[in-house]
Amino acid sequence: MIYLIKRILPGQTIGIIGGGQLGQMMTTSAKEMGYHVIILDPQKDCPAAQVADEQVIADYDDEIAILNLAKICDVLTFEFENVDADTIDAAKQYCYVPQGSTALRISQDRISEKQFLEAHNYPIAPFKLIQSFDDLENVIKITGYPSILKTIRGGYDGKGQVILKTSADLIEAEKLIQNRTCVLEGFVQFDREVSVIIARNELGQQSIFPIIENQHRHNILHESSCPSRLSIETRKEVEIIASQIADDCLSVGTMGIEFFVSDSGGVYVNEIAPRPHNSGHLTIEACSLSQFEAHIRGICNLPMLKPQLLSHAIMINILGQHVQPVLNEIQNEGQWRFHFYGKNEAKQDRKMGHVTILTDNIEQAKIDVYQTKIWD
Ligand code: AMP
Repeated sequence: MIYLIKRILPGQTIGIIGGGQLGQMMTTSAKEMGYHVIILDPQKDCPAAQVADEQVIADYDDEIAILNLAKICDVLTFEFENVDADTIDAAKQYCYVPQGSTALRISQDRISEKQFLEAHNYPIAPFKLIQSFDDLENVIKITGYPSILKTIRGGYDGKGQVILKTSADLIEAEKLIQNRTCVLEGFVQFDREVSVIIARNELGQQSIFPIIENQHRHNILHESSCPSRLSIETRKEVEIIASQIADDCLSVGTMGIEFFVSDSGGVYVNEIAPRPHNSGHLTIEACSLSQFEAHIRGICNLPMLKPQLLSHAIMINILGQHVQPVLNEIQNEGQWRFHFYGKNEAKQDRKMGHVTILTDNIEQAKIDVYQTKIWD
């Protein structure tokens, strides 16, 4: 039997479902590599459409529009996990969709994600399915406080989560449950949060990036730095787990895998994102390959490079409330590499851009950055 290896070459067309900042940075890389890019997004002139060749204006759940996009593309990809997995499967009859729906289905639902991780023996925090407030009251009697309640679908950037520190937090938890299925997770007393950005092509070749250390504020990623301060042994363990997860869920393109690491070196997988990840934005300047170029290489089935860390770096998100202060500060900051995504409305907590600083002293760079008081 002859198996033809599919490759998408410069000049061919990439369709991207979703036109936010991840789609924008994917498009910028794809354009540098010589691809034609079409974005599907309901918002005219969304961030990705500002740099792409064409835009299809349609909702993310408009199956007909997505299938029509597939008909005019050579390869179809997506920038977020809230795409209908059946539509992704259906699109395969019209063009190359190497990301497929396996990793997508796993990551769309916290229960299937946890079941997948558990079935493959990856270390995760203990969890219980919660379908009603009664369930929660019964389960928390056994699991105790603190615990964290999360909706199983649709939560992002801290939305759809309640930390239960005492029984007083049950009131908030009840509001979250309403008619939604949730998962109650044991609270991990972690020392560090880290992520691994890993890109893979259909042949199984991988680009695995240096581990990134992350800080969240109000459950939204605030700061990432690289290299992480993990011991060599923990680093190896985390990298091996990430590489195996990417293989096990047949990931193609870039994926972000989040981990908690405890003081004693205990490692827990927190979450899988089957797309480029906010913490990986620093790879644009700090690595010999960005997570976005790696994504394009993966979905086009090109050879996967080994990313080298060119410089230590920190990245800080610019949310809506930081935009004006950052704009005022830019002229004083010769080392800041700033990115603005071209979003029209700077709402509170909306991701509007990020700053990356290359440094040989991460701690000093943090002191300097926070002296501006922009992120207080
Ligand atoms: P998630 O949306 O699941 O990534 O959660 C957002 C953030 O909440 C994480 O990055 C952690 O900072 C915190 N968090 C989530 N789950 C847990 C947990 N089981 N234990 C401790 N902190 C958590």
